[in-house]
Amino acid sequence: MEALHKKIREEGIVLSDQVLKVDAFLNHQIDPVLMQQIGDEFAALFAGSGITKIVTIEASGIAPAVMTGLKMGIPVIFARKHQSLTLTENMFSASVYSFTKQTESTIAISTRHLNSSDRVLIIDDFLANGKASQALISIIKQAGATVAGLGIVIEKSFQGGRAELDGQGYRVESLARVQSLKDGVVTFV
Ligand code: 5GP
Repeated sequence: MEALHKKIREEGIVLSDQVLKVDAFLNHQIDPVLMQQIGDEFAALFAGSGITKIVTIEASGIAPAVMTGLKMGIPVIFARKHQSLTLTENMFSASVYSFTKQTESTIAISTRHLNSSDRVLIIDDFLANGKASQALISIIKQAGATVAGLGIVIEKSFQGGRAELDGQGYRVESLARVQSLKDGVVTFV
């Protein structure tokens, strides 16, 4: 997606060979026009797939997920990282190792919001080693629902997440595929 590539080239900051900072438009400050284009793109890619719900993780997945849900006319659920005191009903949950924070945490979705008739599109901001995606897949499976595919804003193709999801037979659509972050330069696939 050219507009996203341009934004990454112009405003992305390479923090290391492994980490790209995009807090100027996705992870802190949000560019709503770009988010809308991203939502339109995912909606077009997954049109006709019978998707009934979108699932993401708070916080950075929410903006692209909501724009996709708006275009597709379906609800968006974000997995919560910390169960609040008001959420006392049953939850589907999974443990996820955070690539950026290097800590293990639990994410959860209320059993009220997902059921076995749902066909779910997972949306996330980044795909690195795939831990977040695998945790969401686990939650969707616990609900007996079907994973219809994954829409990733920025895939770091040099890490293992994409290959693992491909190997499991999931459809993965990434709007930007980063081949390398070596020497402070973003190279796309
Ligand atoms: P994974 O679970 O695939 O290893 O990592 C995906 C999650 O880690 C994403 O939800 C994202 O929040 C975070 N993440 C992974 N790599 C990067 C990165 O290079 N930059 C930023 N800002 N977040 C990342």
